[in-house]
Amino acid sequence: MPHDAPRRRVLSGIQPSGALHLGNWVGAIRQWVAGQDRRENFICIVDLHAITITQEPALLKRRTRELAAMLFACGIDPERTTLFVQSHVRAHAECAWILGCITPLGWLERMTQYKAKAQQQKSVSTGLLTYPVLQTADILLYDADEVPVGEDQKQHIELARDIALRFNQIYGETFVVPEGVIPEVGARVMGLDDPTQKMSKSADARDHAVLLDDSDEQIDRAIRRAVTDSGRDIVFSNAPEKAGVKNLLTIYQALTAKTRSEVEADFAGSRGYGDLKRRVAEVVVEAIRPIRLRYQELIANEDELDRLLALGAGAARAQAEPKVELVKERVGFLPARAR
Ligand code: ATP
Ligand code: MG
Repeated sequence: MPHDAPRRRVLSGIQPSGALHLGNWVGAIRQWVAGQDRRENFICIVDLHAITITQEPALLKRRTRELAAMLFACGIDPERTTLFVQSHVRAHAECAWILGCITPLGWLERMTQYKAKAQQQKSVSTGLLTYPVLQTADILLYDADEVPVGEDQKQHIELARDIALRFNQIYGETFVVPEGVIPEVGARVMGLDDPTQKMSKSADARDHAVLLDDSDEQIDRAIRRAVTDSGRDIVFSNAPEKAGVKNLLTIYQALTAKTRSEVEADFAGSRGYGDLKRRVAEVVVEAIRPIRLRYQELIANEDELDRLLALGAGAARAQAEPKVELVKERVGFLPARAR
């Protein structure tokens, strides 16, 4: 690439819905950190998305701070990446309304994440259904070329593309049509308690996840308790009963950057799952320890954290506000200011 080629712009969103886990790191955050120089990164802590399900206000506020601190601890550099809180930038809600008005209901009703989450709720909010439209606004406001995501978000990115194309077609070229970029290795980490479900921040079952601020002992315990099967073969296999072993191997592979056959060779002479778990736990403990130590320092310094987030919000507004003004002009809204 020539030296002066414009850097691709990347938008990533993350919910303040609970403590970050190994899946978030392997599936998303690691890529954000690695891409900071090659890419122009925007990372949005999506608190507007979080309230699509009931939130306790004080807890939401605390989790938003903790998430920001953890992202910085993982290596997000405020000098190189615009990290901000979604509700600090009004353009997101404004743009989402306009995009919702050109989005057919059927497009939203067929989203698998909506269907899954709706089943878990007693009463389903309108916001849970329109969530992917807000996500589309998050992406399109920044003219993002790329959205790095885990497998679970693939369908939402397709939807964002469809909405962008539709808007451009109706109102003229306005939005960059984004691409979803899915990391190949360790793209999807499954729950340790149930390897048929992806590891998730909002799942509160015991021994479900390895959290990025877990102690060495907690990590070791969670991995040793991971659900496996009654066999002893340590191989990558898609057989349903091997899902637990496959997940442990996937984690090991993601953290050692080995190929599948190298990973299988590592465990070829292994004496059963106890040995597998011990070695996976070792690798995870080593990967997480430095993150946890940086996090503990940052979370103790609230003023500094708030200062960094104010900087991020300013930089985000500088991009999103002119964009939403253009969108409003395109749909025919009367400008508020004399020109
Ligand atoms: P929630 O349960 O609230 O949806 P989550 O754990 O799914 O939380 P998100 O905030 O939805 O986390 O996603 C943050 C990023 O992490 C996204 O890019 C998402 O694709 C990725 N991600 C989430 N869970 C996993 C996982 N288990 N494996 C790999 N990537 C994941
Ligand atoms: Mg999710």
